[in-house]
Amino acid sequence: MKLPKISFSIIATLTLAAAVIDALNGCSSSQPDDSQIAAAQAATAITRTTNHSTTIYLVTTGSATGSGPRSAASPPPSDSLQALVDDAYAKFKDDQSGTNADYIPYLASVPSELFGIAVVTVDGKIFTAGDTGYTFSLQSCSKVFTLAEIIEESGEEEVLKKIGVEPTGMAFNSITALGLHDNQAINPLVNAGAIASVSMVKAGSADERWNKILAFESSFAGEPLKLIDEVYRSESDTNFRNQGIAFILYNGQHLFCNPLEACDAYTKQCSIGVTARQLAIMGATLANGGVNPITQQRCLTARHVPRVLAVMMMAGFYDESGQWAYTAGIPAKTGVGGGIVAVVPGRMAIVAFSPRLNAAGNSIRATEAINHIVRQLDLNLFGSVQ
Ligand code: GLN
Repeated sequence: MKLPKISFSIIATLTLAAAVIDALNGCSSSQPDDSQIAAAQAATAITRTTNHSTTIYLVTTGSATGSGPRSAASPPPSDSLQALVDDAYAKFKDDQSGTNADYIPYLASVPSELFGIAVVTVDGKIFTAGDTGYTFSLQSCSKVFTLAEIIEESGEEEVLKKIGVEPTGMAFNSITALGLHDNQAINPLVNAGAIASVSMVKAGSADERWNKILAFESSFAGEPLKLIDEVYRSESDTNFRNQGIAFILYNGQHLFCNPLEACDAYTKQCSIGVTARQLAIMGATLANGGVNPITQQRCLTARHVPRVLAVMMMAGFYDESGQWAYTAGIPAKTGVGGGIVAVVPGRMAIVAFSPRLNAAGNSIRATEAINHIVRQLDLNLFGSVQ
């Protein structure tokens, strides 16, 4: 007899449960009896609905194997997590491919050899390897937290309406992408959208705007963050393209404060200094539903967190976002300073920092290291890929 079924995923740690699920999935010729279903329900949740002559089984999983509900799984033991972070560091340390960003002169001078990995779990455990005490500029990783700020302040509808959430498939500083979208910013994680985001922060003056952004980003780190003055000056001296983007937005009425003020606040937020360790705490705050796992301060209302992570998933890796989703399957955001912050909801943040970038502007070793950890822990949110 064929059983129509809806199966989200299957666990098979218990032989009995496996047998029942096989039967439910039509792999077995006989229908499970009530005692088999009851036993399997100890490990899974099975709902049986009978409608006329059709029986529908809805099978949802427990967390026994890690292929269950991904946000509910407990973190791996500390020893093995530290060993994995060490392993990722050793594995990619000698990869010298790529080059530092140089369109912002300061970034070309950052030592290319630097490489650090930091993992922070939602219960506040920290695992590090390599150069996790070096302070680098947040660059585009800052866009995530300002997105969180404007969702918190103005609500998700306003952000959707005034900026948008679609991936562009184009470079992070694309003007063509703007032109194709009626000169609206498209999403908060490309330059145009991030400049529009800072312009949405409610402020009566340029100072108030910047101070609010800095305080909000700092709350995620759990300590006061500071501007790296040299980065800010280097970027301010050369950010003509971003100024152009700000004026295009303003001209189309898609910018909500003075364009030079918006561009300056944006340049400042990109110049905020963080260590890999601090950035991992910022990411872990998102993983932890908006509560900083170290300070226990709520930084973002819980129901806003999935909105932020969704935009990261769709647009966090610039024009390689699809490839990242396909490969790793977790939300992440990269910056041309060499940092990448990846978030595993309910579990941890994984951060890596290495200044050498590929053509899309994504850090090569940081991508490799995070991917390695994701694969080893089987963290892909869409299901097991092992
Ligand atoms: N400040 C950089 C810029 O505006 C940020 C870009 C990035 O990290 N992709 O170009």
